[in-house]
Amino acid sequence: MWRKLAGQSREPGHFANRQPAISQPAKVCSQKVAMRALNLFATALLAVPAFGQAYLAGNWTPLRHEDQAERGQGPELGDYLGLPINDAARLRADSWSASRMTLPEQQCRVHSVTYIYRGPNHLRIWEEKDALQQVVAIKNYISTYEQTRTIWMDGRPHPSEYAPHTFMGFSTGEWQGDILTVTTTHIKQGFVRRNGLVQSDLATMVEHFIRHGNILTHVSVVTDPVYTTEPLIKSEDFELDELDQGSWLWPCEPVEEITNRKKTDVPHYLPGANPYLTEFSDHFHVSQQAIRGGAETMYPEYQAKLKAPGGPPPPASGDPPAPRPRAAAADIEVLPVQGNVYLIATRSGNITVQTGPTGVLMVDTGTAALSEKVLAAVRKLSGKPLRYIVNTHLHPDHTGGNETLARYGGAEDVRNIRNTPGDLEGQIVKILAHDNVLQRMNNPPPGQPEIPFVSQPGDTYFGASKDLFFNGESIQLLHQPVAHTDGDTMVYFRRSDVISAGDILVTDSYPVIDLSNGGGLQGIIDGLNRLLDLAIPEHHEEGGTYIIPGHGRICDEFDVLEYRDMVTIIRDRIQDMIRKGMTLEQVKAARPTRDYDPQYGVNRDTFVEAAYKSLTKTK
Ligand SMILES: [Zn+2]
Repeated sequence: MWRKLAGQSREPGHFANRQPAISQPAKVCSQKVAMRALNLFATALLAVPAFGQAYLAGNWTPLRHEDQAERGQGPELGDYLGLPINDAARLRADSWSASRMTLPEQQCRVHSVTYIYRGPNHLRIWEEKDALQQVVAIKNYISTYEQTRTIWMDGRPHPSEYAPHTFMGFSTGEWQGDILTVTTTHIKQGFVRRNGLVQSDLATMVEHFIRHGNILTHVSVVTDPVYTTEPLIKSEDFELDELDQGSWLWPCEPVEEITNRKKTDVPHYLPGANPYLTEFSDHFHVSQQAIRGGAETMYPEYQAKLKAPGGPPPPASGDPPAPRPRAAAADIEVLPVQGNVYLIATRSGNITVQTGPTGVLMVDTGTAALSEKVLAAVRKLSGKPLRYIVNTHLHPDHTGGNETLARYGGAEDVRNIRNTPGDLEGQIVKILAHDNVLQRMNNPPPGQPEIPFVSQPGDTYFGASKDLFFNGESIQLLHQPVAHTDGDTMVYFRRSDVISAGDILVTDSYPVIDLSNGGGLQGIIDGLNRLLDLAIPEHHEEGGTYIIPGHGRICDEFDVLEYRDMVTIIRDRIQDMIRKGMTLEQVKAARPTRDYDPQYGVNRDTFVEAAYKSLTKTK
């Protein structure tokens, strides 16, 4: 690219950051040169009279020799060279097994937008215009995994942090001179490299689409607060394809690749047990330390460190970044989920609302402190009376609003009839739950306040499930034994195709295992596997069934899959440590969660402790 900018050549840029053999010096150079070149280019643009906006529409074909190994067979195992990763990313990749890709839910997973332009893709770009011929959106169709991407050009805001993430994310664009600059959020988890290096679902991306004649340069800057210490900058070139060549479709259907494996197994290597991590350095004679990556390996100065006596210092590991705090958005946000189902998201947990001609059904009611606001939000969604409250479990952040909602959410006329002496006020709005919830609410531990009768479940079930039909929809209450507590219910709205999972699934921490209320680690994993069984994605592991977690953002099957994989892998690690006779203190000190801590670690110690106790109890 630097040659082109210097006006010496119109050849397409050569951004190879993967060359065979000892490519390290060339590679670190090219990335830094790329950044400098970009700055130069931006400066050059500012120096000349304003360009018109470029026209990007057309069919574009990639110059596949660039970063060839990322495009075809994928990179070598253990090659983390030239990437600004932190220790958590490194450890997570070390535990990754290629067999993971044989899981049915992994087979058709899409390359996230941060990676997909490196695929063997054909790219079609077009503009969408309104009646006044203003460009509302610039669309991309990417043949890899048949992805359509919308870059909104109308200045609309990005969605709520509780909204679902997608493989293509949510994008807004603006013209800076004749460069289209795009900002993308709400991206699903993806690859940094297809050897286990992960981009988290908290990553964001800024891109620049730069057209010069028949060449389109695409530059992306990915910032991942979980797994990188500096932005990751990459580029690719495309050539205008006037002939509309190539295949535009990407059919994919998951199959059973391994038939003698338990459906719930997650392939991975225990810490220190991956035998393939030195293959790359042995074969290409690259420094063992250099291949571990880290921001310092991106820069030319690293060459000198490599040649220094004793070799380079080990990668700056330090502790991974502090776990991010739980979501701190507005008090209450209301989001449509799908069909008749809405999410009332609050800082202290999620409430699911189903509305229709017969009335309102709520799954959980939030904290007591928020109950007036929740009631007002429900009233906005529907003028019909509240008929049912389902409690997923007994905790006050899910049942604290029961009293207010049960007293004031129901129908006036029913209240007038039913509020005769001796009648039960609580029956105006039926509160449903598993019977274990009622038993525990009725018998609070010593020192805990009595729970008012009106906010206790008046209608409980004992078995594995209970059926309801409400607002034209079949609804199943599914008991999940010994999970978050011993009274967990997941609520499956079969027509809307939404599952309200309670605290079996949370997106902003590790699972909470309430041992004192009958919870257990294996029950959480069983519950996550059950969600995978129930959920059916619409296309290439995205959409279809939506799952509302107890805390955090709306999920689909892929999000549950990644969470299930994480909890299973951590269980396997702790189980292995227990087998080796390690004590709780030793297990804690070994940090079996450290590759996931930057994202979920707010409850790291209590999770590891509860997991350990839960696993040793079942012996
Ligand atoms: Zn809870």
